[in-house]
Amino acid sequence: MTAQIISGRDIASEIKEELTQEIAALKAKHNLVPGLATVLVGENPASQIYVGQKEKTSQALGIYSERHDLPADTNEAELLALVDKLNKDPKIHGILVQLPLPEHINSTKVLYLIDPGKDVDAFHPVNVGKLMIGEPDFLPCTPHGIYQLLIRSGVNIKGAEVVVVGASNIVGRPVAALLSLEKEGFGGTVTLCHILTKDISVHTKRADILIVAVGKPKLVTADMVKNGVVVIDVGTNRIGKTAEGKDILVGDVDFEAVKEKAKAITPVPGGVGPMTIAMLMMNTVKAAKLAAGLA
Ligand code: NAD
Repeated sequence: MTAQIISGRDIASEIKEELTQEIAALKAKHNLVPGLATVLVGENPASQIYVGQKEKTSQALGIYSERHDLPADTNEAELLALVDKLNKDPKIHGILVQLPLPEHINSTKVLYLIDPGKDVDAFHPVNVGKLMIGEPDFLPCTPHGIYQLLIRSGVNIKGAEVVVVGASNIVGRPVAALLSLEKEGFGGTVTLCHILTKDISVHTKRADILIVAVGKPKLVTADMVKNGVVVIDVGTNRIGKTAEGKDILVGDVDFEAVKEKAKAITPVPGGVGPMTIAMLMMNTVKAAKLAAGLA
């Protein structure tokens, strides 16, 4: 069996096209322009690229975008004051503080100050809690991206054995909570594995849907999966540079070997990665609609 390759690039483009139309309609019918503020502290090169991509995508879709680049020596009080100002700004519906923050700033304090209604990353405990009780306003971007990849590729989640490897607060835990919701379109039977799991292969071998978010190249090999599995590889590992000096990226799954057994699989790069920004845009539109009483 050779797997269907689930293209995050294509699915993210499809979603961005839908959002562009929705944003144009909000503008035309309600004079509502969704607004996103990004906040970057310091000059971390990867963070600068991520924030740049978010800004560029917002503008391409018709979202009002505001970028706040602060020097590395910005103190916590200054950053908290900026978040407070953005919380009160009616043009801004979504606030994204790019992580990691410099060590002298308490990230938790900053993230907890973001108005939960503008928390488009969905990291605030209010939004985490709403997901846990099955009433989310916003879904965290990477888990939501994984969900969209599955449903837009026609994968049935209801009743499926879903195994998630990696239990971080930004990927593993929320995706496990999301896919196990007892609601139409969800309803997986989810097993969540992590570093303390005795033998992950006992679980991965049972999976109809296997989601791997650990950060270890080739953690999942072909002998650890069953025929016909659907694999979502979230791992993003830099294993070297090309002759042109570009990063060589691989996932957590031995792609070449596992694709011979899988029904469908995401590549790295070009799988989950492109979805995360598309979901941030979706959350910004949702935040604007919620603020305007349209959602
Ligand atoms: P993390 O480091 O916060 O958590 C890793 C998790 O993996 C932990 O729960 C840990 O217990 C578990 N783990 C570690 N070794 C293990 C092992 N041998 N067996 C089983 N479980 C093990 O990681 P994270 O922030 O969730 O990121 C995971 C990977 O996903 C990274 O490669 C990261 O770059 C990538 N990622 C990609 C995106 C994207 O948009 N594509 C977004 C977020 C994270």
